Amino acid sequence: RAKATRRGSHVIFESAIRQELQNRLTLESELALAADRGEFELFYQPQVRLVDGGLVGAEALIRWRHPVRGYVSPGEFMPVVNTSALSERIANWVMETACRQARAWELSGNSVRVAINLSPSQLQSGDLAHAAAALLGATGLTPALLELEVTEDILLHDEGRVLDMFKRIQELGVRVLFDDFGTGYASLSYLKKFPLDGLKIDRSFVLDLLADSDDAAIVSSTIGLSKQLGLTVVAEGIENRATADFLVSMGCEEGQGYFFGRPMPADAFERQFLTQPRSVTAA
Ligand code: C2E
Ligand code: MG
Ligand code: MG
Ligand code: MG
Repeated sequence: RAKATRRGSHVIFESAIRQELQNRLTLESELALAADRGEFELFYQPQVRLVDGGLVGAEALIRWRHPVRGYVSPGEFMPVVNTSALSERIANWVMETACRQARAWELSGNSVRVAINLSPSQLQSGDLAHAAAALLGATGLTPALLELEVTEDILLHDEGRVLDMFKRIQELGVRVLFDDFGTGYASLSYLKKFPLDGLKIDRSFVLDLLADSDDAAIVSSTIGLSKQLGLTVVAEGIENRATADFLVSMGCEEGQGYFFGRPMPADAFERQFLTQPRSVTAA
């Protein structure tokens, strides 16, 4: 009897794996089609100077405008994209679209720093520094207006190569920020190893900042550490004024979060935050 049960669950397990694989393949081909049809869009979320709320930049965040489901968030599809053949294509599209948008804003008299999130493929293959240089040349964007955000998991690959790549990127005048700081296993050792211009305190430490004294201690020390290392520090996940005020009292200079603005389409961002806007539409 026990044997029969074990055998039964084995069959169920196997079919669950097959189903999982099938779902992934379906999603992958839907994503390829979505890329062909131009269904990806970049949303922009404001980044502000915390003391006075003045706009300093925007983080570009990808959305999939699904014909039936509406806007799908990156958490639902980027893990699949990043481990599929589409990865490079979408990563390139993100970088190009964000640069063109930043340049259009720059030309309209709005110097908005635009931050993009790098994908693993961009550090694993090809030459990101070369691609960035080519894109800056083609668009005419001022290099200081481009920022690249990297997470710990994508830094895990080939440290020597990544180090060299970052150096060349920074020589161009482009900034590199460490995203989701504090959530990985070895955040501190990466600060030591890589030349970084700043770090973003993960929203998991910020959301509950007022109520949780452990979070407050972690955030406060991270701000202090950043200053001593000469890094810019950006807090993410600021949902109310009290949190923003508390961060100011701890010496945090910049932040982003729903309190200042949600991620939104380029034209909405322009209406709300810029003067004399010029938007670049989805490619
Ligand atoms: P991330 O880079 O840490 O981006 C910040 C995320 O926090 C965004 O989620 C943003 O909508 C959310 N957020 C901002 N303010 C608040 C707030 O006040 N409260 C709360 N609860 N959340 C807030 P989103 O847009 O869903 O993106 C999730 C993640 O997907 C990003 O995390 C990033 O790792 C990845 N991602 C997004 N766009 C791209 C892209 O173009 N390329 C790559 N490679 N990854 C991307
Ligand atoms: Mg980010
Ligand atoms: Mg983050
Ligand atoms: Mg994140």
